[in-house]
Amino acid sequence: MTQHIRVMQYQIVKPCNGDWSTLAKVLSYLQNATRQVLNKTIQLCWEWQGFGSDYKRKFGENAVDRELLGYSLFGFCYHQLRQEFPLIHSSNISQSIQRAVLRWNSDAPEILNGVKSVPCYKRGVGVDLHKDTVRLKRGKNNEFVVSMNLLSLIGRKEFGFKSAALDTVIKVADGRQRQIFSRVLSGEYGLGACQIVCHKRKWFLQMRYKLAVKERQLNSNHILAVRMGIERPLYIAFSHTSSRVTLNGDNVTAFRKKFMARYAGMIRQKTMQGGGNIGRGKAKRFERIESMRTKISGFQKSLNHKYSRIIVEQAVLNRCGTIQIESPNVIRRQTAFLGNWAYFDLKRKVEYKAQQLGIKVVCLKTRDYEQRCSQCGHLNAVRETSKVLSGAYARSFFCESCGLLTTVDENAVQNLTLPNKPVMSQD
Ligand SMILES: [Zn+2]
Repeated sequence: MTQHIRVMQYQIVKPCNGDWSTLAKVLSYLQNATRQVLNKTIQLCWEWQGFGSDYKRKFGENAVDRELLGYSLFGFCYHQLRQEFPLIHSSNISQSIQRAVLRWNSDAPEILNGVKSVPCYKRGVGVDLHKDTVRLKRGKNNEFVVSMNLLSLIGRKEFGFKSAALDTVIKVADGRQRQIFSRVLSGEYGLGACQIVCHKRKWFLQMRYKLAVKERQLNSNHILAVRMGIERPLYIAFSHTSSRVTLNGDNVTAFRKKFMARYAGMIRQKTMQGGGNIGRGKAKRFERIESMRTKISGFQKSLNHKYSRIIVEQAVLNRCGTIQIESPNVIRRQTAFLGNWAYFDLKRKVEYKAQQLGIKVVCLKTRDYEQRCSQCGHLNAVRETSKVLSGAYARSFFCESCGLLTTVDENAVQNLTLPNKPVMSQD
């Protein structure tokens, strides 16, 4: 069993009792204070370091933290900052200090060598919540509720809160978010330290949760091959079984209908238009295009998360130690179903998720597997014809040598499952 730590983000919708304005005031205060705590901790670490080197110069030996001063670097920082920020809940302030001290400890060697600069936390840092100050529960009307202890006793008096815990309703947008919420609630997943962040004037809880994953014996000779976005979003095959996993792209088609036509129209217009949107510079002129672009890239990225998750989950389920994919460089975007998709982002996500589980990702940099016959190995001239095969329209593949007739997708994915084929070069 290995333990994984993951993060799920939930939007904070409203406080259960009390009004938004007070909560927003508290959160803004905490965000500001957390930033100060983090930066001051770094400053104190710097002083601590200076003291250490002075001591060494003077006495010729390293100062041993605890023995000399009675406390560690963390204790030194906490002691100073606790008094300076009395409104923050004590567990949360120590969480923030811990975060900065960890960062310092990992960066310090490079900082002292002059390779890195001293870390600086900018506006909008996440507000740290110690795991003991966060609790999940279901509300009266079955809402999803997060109960948080944000303030110390003094802080609660200052902001006029009666009870220690502050209950807020969070938005559970999809099945996955619901599943994780209920698993943390039931204790199946452990709750870790959380953060509250602000994005476009909305507040979010980034909940860290721990899950124990049963390690499956992966076999590196078992290969999962996946075609991404050619005839449909995903087409997965395995080297050791004949089962296939496919995904239809209805949501992509729907999105495209809704947005892409409008987007293309906008781009066309902007190049020729001389009307209302001109006059305040480029930013104004491209404002709507930019917002559209953000929407499209957001849609692709969230789907990439889903796709990469499916690929890696399938690899684990089928005990594949290797995933073979096509290099984004060789995907012909004009004819691919996903078109001009964020393929590199998808590849990165697959690699990242696979790496966590010890699965190797091989990226094939050739298109030969589209021409090679998966049955006899003959390299055919590309002859792609649209035909009805097993009830669905798909580009069909026909081998001149052995007469194999199948879909281009099926033939290519079958080739992708082969290990180290000489016809295929690797990245
Ligand atoms: Zn053949």
